[in-house]
Amino acid sequence: MTAQLDATYTVELAPQVHAFIQPDGSWWLNNAGFVGTAADTVLIDTAATEARTRGLMAAMTATMGSAPTVRTIVNTHHHGDHTFGNCLFPNATVVAHRHCRQEALEYGDPPVLTSWRQIDWGEVKCVAPHLIFDQSIELIAGDTTLQVMHVGQRAHTAGDVIVWIPQHRVLFTGDLLFHGGTPFVLSGSVAGSIAVLRTVLAPLGAATVVAGHGPVATAELIDDTVEYLQFVQRLSQQGLRAGLTPLQAADRADLGRFASWLDPERIVGNLHRGYHEVSHGAVGFDETRALADMVALNGGPLTTHA
Ligand SMILES: [Zn+2]
Repeated sequence: MTAQLDATYTVELAPQVHAFIQPDGSWWLNNAGFVGTAADTVLIDTAATEARTRGLMAAMTATMGSAPTVRTIVNTHHHGDHTFGNCLFPNATVVAHRHCRQEALEYGDPPVLTSWRQIDWGEVKCVAPHLIFDQSIELIAGDTTLQVMHVGQRAHTAGDVIVWIPQHRVLFTGDLLFHGGTPFVLSGSVAGSIAVLRTVLAPLGAATVVAGHGPVATAELIDDTVEYLQFVQRLSQQGLRAGLTPLQAADRADLGRFASWLDPERIVGNLHRGYHEVSHGAVGFDETRALADMVALNGGPLTTHA
């Protein structure tokens, strides 16, 4: 279950600004960030399981020289791989967008998984964000100012926020971007994601981009992701015209260069969302069906190394 636990690593992006990367970045293996000093730390997301969150704690301690005092956690969105570890920082204020809190409460504690192989969660539970905002806030950690901004519309989820550190041009995007993995908008919006990437992320001119999953990237990942999402839109239109179900359309699709990205079965989850959008709601959205179709396309429960 933790075969790749030892493969995690920390990247110094700028003084007092670090990314915690969990290879291979596939299902449930997210990235986190930590900013500031051991005496005054802001954490950007946690991890899915107790073991992985303890790995994040150990990485922070090793990097900063002593066990950190995490005053604040920013949750980029509600998905459990980014948030279940919140509960292991009982003294931290958990900050997020208003919709993220609502989505976290609706999802609740770590579930018994049916679409994925089971994960050993350890002792984690849902701790929903308790300091919420609507547009943006600023946090100070040591010498660093973090601008925490809602992206303005549904994209990966309804409650996505980004963390922008202007003095170092470092951007933490949460799951608006996956690096080396297939984008996933089942709980968000294809069109909304494209709009956010083009009008919110790209204009920042980030020098360094930390996606929600996968190695540290550059801003080129934004264009790459837009191309995939436009591919999803085209495939949705073609599939609808041809009278294909999302699963049939995914089954027949040539993913081209996107086939090498991790978790390619996400195409059918994305198509469920795409069909709903390009039909302007005439085709309903059924999350249970979308998840079942991903399992079908994958030929069995989805793989996770969490
Ligand atoms: Zn996510």
